[in-house]
Amino acid sequence: MSTLPIFIYSENYNMDLGEHVFPSVKYRVIREALRQDERFQHHKFLEPLMLSYEEAGTVHKKPYLEDLKQLNFSKRVYRSELPLNRMIVDAFFLGSGGTLLAAEMALQHRLAMNLAGGFHHAFADHAEGFCYLNDVAIAIRVLQKQKKIRKALVIDLDVHQGNGTARIFRNSRSVFTFSIHEEKNYPPKEKGSLNIGLESGTSDEKYLQVLTDSLKQVRKKFKPDLVAYVAGVDPYENDRLGGLSISKEGLATRDTIVRDTFSDIPMFAVLAGGYAINTQDTVDLHVQTCEVLAGFR
Ligand SMILES: [Zn+2]
Repeated sequence: MSTLPIFIYSENYNMDLGEHVFPSVKYRVIREALRQDERFQHHKFLEPLMLSYEEAGTVHKKPYLEDLKQLNFSKRVYRSELPLNRMIVDAFFLGSGGTLLAAEMALQHRLAMNLAGGFHHAFADHAEGFCYLNDVAIAIRVLQKQKKIRKALVIDLDVHQGNGTARIFRNSRSVFTFSIHEEKNYPPKEKGSLNIGLESGTSDEKYLQVLTDSLKQVRKKFKPDLVAYVAGVDPYENDRLGGLSISKEGLATRDTIVRDTFSDIPMFAVLAGGYAINTQDTVDLHVQTCEVLAGFR
């Protein structure tokens, strides 16, 4: 592959969550790993702008956005399982601005990746599961509104189903939501366009076969103008919040399958989850996705 993917990053993605299971320092560490890797020296790293409330409003309801603006820890907010303060809300608006920029860059350069984002548990009217804004849904809606795309496909391979995304697009014929996740895990599943729930303990061979077969089906059924790849690395065998048994190599193969299945369509990737026992594994796995998009694997 000769295309150079565009990466999106800001130092302000990093949040201080204290002793939280979400490794919020991972953004900086991933960026640092890429900075020190000679192979990424010719790649562009762009700084995003903060998402506007108007852009967020293409997906989210006014009362909920008002809570975020006023830092009002309401019933719409508390299910984030995160603290609510200005720094965190700003980090979500910036991370979501990064996803929108990645989507725009994908349309221009074919491949882009936000080194944050994938907040797929956020619903239109409430927060959930470490997610305040549904960045991928917002990026799609904004680009549709601007008439830059008509149809979008969301490939969500985080170990947890993207319940917020599935619900947001439940009645939309222009957005196809596809998910492979662990069936017996958070969250309660929402009806998506194609949901595949795997048994706990599923390992590489079965996982990659299911992925290959189902992506073929999706390609036949749906012709998107843009693909959003939610590249969560929590299907990893040593993840604290995931019960699948996918190896590092298996996740790299997963990323190449997604890349190669849609090699003729603009695609952007976002990080989503990753809670490995050893945080360095989470970083390595996200860097692996960057390597795959860059064609190094
Ligand atoms: Zn997850």
